[in-house]
Amino acid sequence: MSLPVADAHSHINDVRGLSARELASKFLSSGGWFIALVSVSPADYNMNISQDPLEVYLNALRHHVSLCKEVRSSGLTVSCLAGFHPDDVEFLASRGLGALGALKVAMKVLEAEADLCRKGGLDGIGEVGRQHYKSLPERLVASQLVLERAAEVAQDLGCVLHMHLEDVGPDTVELTHMALSSRGIRAGPRIVFHHAKPNMVAPATSLGYSATVPGRTEALIDALRLAGPNFMAESDFPGWEGPRILAPWNLGINVREAVAKAGLGEEALYEINIDNVVRAFGVEPP
Ligand SMILES: [Zn+2]
Ligand SMILES: [Zn+2]
Repeated sequence: MSLPVADAHSHINDVRGLSARELASKFLSSGGWFIALVSVSPADYNMNISQDPLEVYLNALRHHVSLCKEVRSSGLTVSCLAGFHPDDVEFLASRGLGALGALKVAMKVLEAEADLCRKGGLDGIGEVGRQHYKSLPERLVASQLVLERAAEVAQDLGCVLHMHLEDVGPDTVELTHMALSSRGIRAGPRIVFHHAKPNMVAPATSLGYSATVPGRTEALIDALRLAGPNFMAESDFPGWEGPRILAPWNLGINVREAVAKAGLGEEALYEINIDNVVRAFGVEPP
């Protein structure tokens, strides 16, 4: 039997891409056992945002939760996350709401997500965080406030948090750690630096956080050399397949290849695909 494969950060979009059933069966047949499914934006579902933005975001949220359930019913272990992406702050701010208007919608969406976390419909909040590109200062502040509020909610409810950040390297970890600490958030494995650069893994994990690294062989090798197998692999699959898109069913081979090239053995594979996932997401091992 080959080793079970985990995808610690992915997306699903049955409107523009694969259905829950297709995604699940492809991942299962590649050896998948666990997938963290992170919500997409309403615009990704071709939803029209112009009427009542909050209602549209809540509709998208409900749709995402139903997709998670469907994927789970295939037999995969699923961690279902929904957040308010910095791109959503940009999107609403640039469409007449301004940064403050976008922030107000985000806070309401976070309330709904917290409620779902409480009732078991969601396992975590994410992604939230900061833009990885140049933005307007007020939009950065709004995004940072969403991140900090989401981190408080996640800590209060004991659920997972996925952070999408600018990923400049160790400074990103330090800045985020300082901001979260000042809000009374304690570092822990449930707080995940998503899309971490290989040189962010050791700084993040030494503080007690988790990290996911894009599951491309070169990035995985770099991370293994710098930090050992102290991270998880992610596809960040957008929900549809394309020429350069990394899919959940590519991870198994890439991780195995990277571990071999880094001169590590089966134990490293277990850590990346099982141990670190169990610790971060609080799920039962396969
Ligand atoms: Zn992201
Ligand atoms: Zn993502």
